[in-house]
Amino acid sequence: MKTGIYPGSFDPVTNGHVDIVTRGASLFDHLVIGVYDAPPKHLLFTTEQRLELMTKAVAHLPNVDVKTYVGLTVDFARQVGAQSVVRGLRMSSDFEREFEMALMNKNLAPDLELVCLMSSLDYQFLSASLLKEVAQLGGSITNLVPPHVAKALKEKFALP
Ligand code: ADP
Repeated sequence: MKTGIYPGSFDPVTNGHVDIVTRGASLFDHLVIGVYDAPPKHLLFTTEQRLELMTKAVAHLPNVDVKTYVGLTVDFARQVGAQSVVRGLRMSSDFEREFEMALMNKNLAPDLELVCLMSSLDYQFLSASLLKEVAQLGGSITNLVPPHVAKALKEKFALP
């Protein structure tokens, strides 16, 4: 069975992430989304909230599961029996960091392959951090996230 993982902090999940999950799911028998439990940066949503928002966003995809993980991504891949790591690449920002991480992961787990999917045109400039800034200032983000995520952002920022 071909199994892949899609790791990230997903704070919160955006339509760009869902697009990568949807396309990634068609490449594997089983795709496991790994919501990273303790990223070394400030997060808006708790791990449980990020897990719940992601689970709802991909509920329509039968071969996709969502789990949280701590520690190394390569260890999470081993735990779920994955042979590949899926990541999304946006034109402007992601290549160098993904390359660096891929080489480090290759060093840790030579048998684990990286599959990078190019971000779709609509989501090239969509990042969770910019999304949060705009949402906090009351800007419309409804075409960038699933409806339940837009609702969660509104509640988080106590917006009307
Ligand atoms: P991390 O904190 O590990 O960067 P993110 O939740 O920000 O995790 O993103 C997880 C993965 O999704 C990364 O590979 C990132 O490049 C990718 N990604 C983020 N936003 C988009 C987008 N708009 N389009 C495609 N891929 C994206």
